[in-house]
Amino acid sequence: MCSVQDEDGDIAVPRSAISADRVCMKCKDTKAVVVTRVNDALCRDCFIVYVVHKFRATIGKSHLIRDGEEILLAFSGGPCSSALLHLVQEGLSQRAHKRLRFKPSLVHIDEMGVLDLPSEEREKTNAAILDVLRGTGYPCYISSLEQALDLPDGSGEQKVGHCRPPCWNIDNGEGLENYNRAKHDKRLADVFKSIKSTTAKENYVRNLRNQLLTAIARRHSYSKVMLANTSTRLAIRILSDIGQGRGGQVSVDTCFADERHGDIMFVRPIREVTSKEVAMYNSLYRVEPVFVPTLTTQASRGASIDHLTECFVTGLQAEFPSTVSNITRTAGKLDSVVRTGTEDFCVLCQSPLDTNVGEASALRAVEFSDMLSKRGCDPGSTTSGCCGEGDGSCQSSKVNSLHNTDVIKALCYGCRLTVKDMTDVSQLPSHVTQEAASRISRLRMKEDIQDFLIDGDS
Ligand SMILES: [Zn+2]
Ligand SMILES: [Zn+2]
Repeated sequence: MCSVQDEDGDIAVPRSAISADRVCMKCKDTKAVVVTRVNDALCRDCFIVYVVHKFRATIGKSHLIRDGEEILLAFSGGPCSSALLHLVQEGLSQRAHKRLRFKPSLVHIDEMGVLDLPSEEREKTNAAILDVLRGTGYPCYISSLEQALDLPDGSGEQKVGHCRPPCWNIDNGEGLENYNRAKHDKRLADVFKSIKSTTAKENYVRNLRNQLLTAIARRHSYSKVMLANTSTRLAIRILSDIGQGRGGQVSVDTCFADERHGDIMFVRPIREVTSKEVAMYNSLYRVEPVFVPTLTTQASRGASIDHLTECFVTGLQAEFPSTVSNITRTAGKLDSVVRTGTEDFCVLCQSPLDTNVGEASALRAVEFSDMLSKRGCDPGSTTSGCCGEGDGSCQSSKVNSLHNTDVIKALCYGCRLTVKDMTDVSQLPSHVTQEAASRISRLRMKEDIQDFLIDGDS
């Protein structure tokens, strides 16, 4: 009973074969109210035991969360983080069979700045979320995605995230007032207006959010951030990652402990629970999520690769309930690349760089055809300073003498596609361009002294 295993089997069972009009298969006593997995009918109590067990067993078998450890829980207000917060609250309450031992704090990142909504609408949604946060009695923080644009480093060291991001403690009313008074930076909305595809926008939001969470955790001395990714969400992430040339990141994007951010670990304690189970859990406990509009709210099926993948996976899952578990189990067999050096990761998403490949690789072939289609303009050249557009627009696009191509070199393949959708690399957060610039200058210095190095010392 103590291991989390999905026993769906590999044979897809069409939904038509399922009948919900049965007694609970666990206690065989009470009428079933939900059907979970492929065909398991459970009563209310047995279903809650089942979800709580998945959550606790996922934490338990990781052996990563210590007694008394302070953990930052990222709360968006949506169904998944609302369910995670409720699971944590129940686990810490006196009524819990075996109480959880960690100490949660909550952080909400207001991402509505990318939509350029009227400030009243933002304040109303934030107020609803903060009501939930303050009701818990845990330490609470709020920040907005705008803060991720400048994560300045006061010490002058150019390390990503080693800085003091503005986030507001809302344990008392003062913090919230200060947050509402702080002027939202219009640059964020402008950047998002200039990004062409919704796919690139979604990726950029995800990167900024992760950088901000990492920076806030560092500032307040947390070493772990809890994310409410369900197995359904992870299955969508897996297929979408592969579709976007981020196959090398599937493992870190979906495993329990995401360690790509160095000293801050992202953990996913409800990664074995499906989104449908989250919805059923919320409805049985009357947990009410807050509606927060996103980039793809009311968007059509094909608005972005993520959105299209979501429609595909959820549509398939509705007919064949083993879909999600089959995708996640298959991806679970993948290993992640271990970060070895200080410069072998992407400055935007922190994943290991997947671009150091041979001349005869698919990446080089794509770059070559890209170069030809841009009529002889060499996107790999640092001296030409070409951004790859090939229309002369690149002549003006320099960031502190940093060329688009310099920044591109410090990015993984997936992030290169995102950045290509931007008009100018100066729109990237300053700490990202700084890190890219210092990498380039170190590389040039290394090239200058190359002849004086003893073999093997380079
Ligand atoms: Zn039962
Ligand atoms: Zn990247």
